[in-house]
Amino acid sequence: MEVFGDGHRLFIQSMMSRGMMNISEVKEVISECGLDVETEFKDKVVKFVRLINQHIGPINLEIRKGLEEENGQPYYILANTAETSISRLSSTYSPNELELFKKLIESIVENEDGKIGSLAAMNLTDKLEKKIGKEEAENFFNRLEDDRWIRKNTNGKISLSVRSIVELDQYIKDVYPDYVKFCSLCTKLCLQGRGCENCGAKFHIRCSNVFFNKQGSNKTCPEPNCRAPWGQVVIH
Ligand SMILES: [Zn+2]
Ligand SMILES: [Zn+2]
Repeated sequence: MEVFGDGHRLFIQSMMSRGMMNISEVKEVISECGLDVETEFKDKVVKFVRLINQHIGPINLEIRKGLEEENGQPYYILANTAETSISRLSSTYSPNELELFKKLIESIVENEDGKIGSLAAMNLTDKLEKKIGKEEAENFFNRLEDDRWIRKNTNGKISLSVRSIVELDQYIKDVYPDYVKFCSLCTKLCLQGRGCENCGAKFHIRCSNVFFNKQGSNKTCPEPNCRAPWGQVVIH
């Protein structure tokens, strides 16, 4: 029986300072705790995180696993379970910055492909009641990227990172019920993915890849009520 100890505390501290960790970062921290990560890592990390969650649950924190929509990479994220609204970020960002972040989220969620161009993002500043300069806005977007709330791809397009998807999932569902789509395979929020031409269902890239790999050469839509020959609209 695993006992809560210094290793788990170290893991929580690392999580708090970074906000999220990828698998190799998790491996690194766990091995620093003296745990052998070479064998049965998956099983060990599940038990390790479960024990931590039992301890931090009463203070409304939870470590959750999420996948980056663009590349399917798994991450562990420290989420606040009590305060789902974006206003809980008010100790990190100014009210005006949070307004801009909200507008950014809105425009990403409303876009079918789940991302917006950097110019469009910059133009969101015009919609703010209290104006902020372009340079200030650019610095703020860089901070959001550094804090791993957003990602910029090689074309400069901005999307929400797995941290936002996991931590702001409830906020996004509550505020944009008419726009959000869910992956038909994993039922989770899906901003960037593939859509079916026939039924309009949307799927994460990774979820649909797993599905199609099992299917072989005659690919059909993963949606059980559709199953039309797969001629997907690629919208990522
Ligand atoms: Zn999915
Ligand atoms: Zn379909």
